Amino acid sequence: MSSLVSHWSIPVAELLRHPGTRREVDLSGDLGDIRVTASRVRPAVEIQVGGTIKSLDNVTVEFRGTVRAPWDGECRRCLGPAEGDLTVDVHELFERAPESEDIYPLLADRLDLEPLARDALYLELPQAPLCKADCQGLCPECGADRNTVDCGHAVDELDPRWDALRELGEKN
Ligand SMILES: [Zn+2]
Ligand SMILES: [Zn+2]
Repeated sequence: MSSLVSHWSIPVAELLRHPGTRREVDLSGDLGDIRVTASRVRPAVEIQVGGTIKSLDNVTVEFRGTVRAPWDGECRRCLGPAEGDLTVDVHELFERAPESEDIYPLLADRLDLEPLARDALYLELPQAPLCKADCQGLCPECGADRNTVDCGHAVDELDPRWDALRELGEKN
């Protein structure tokens, strides 16, 4: 742990003294590696967090804003590279002594945006990314990348395995 206070950590004592007051924040920086099975936000990329901190009473503040980051991963159909940008809308509460796990703690009257940003990205990273919406995937017969090669094998539209893949793809 560094002895320096993270720049993601915002002092809110003054806001807590005056319920209803606000502070705008616009921060950027990297947050280390954030990954799910098939996609990740890489350690050195710039993550942006912007929004408004507002005190609701003497112990609670809310943050409303957005978390933005580029991601990359592996296309679930062709296994080639996939990438995109995540924009996650967030609305979270912070309290001095939260009794619910849904509320983030305020430590020493500072609101730390780092765990909020990390959680938001982690939840929204695509679990089944595609390199493009109409990726043709790999030929189930010979493994050729059907985006670039016409291997001549017919696509069996009735193969139930492809129905399952299509359903998964449509959920993205
Ligand atoms: Zn693909
Ligand atoms: Zn083939």
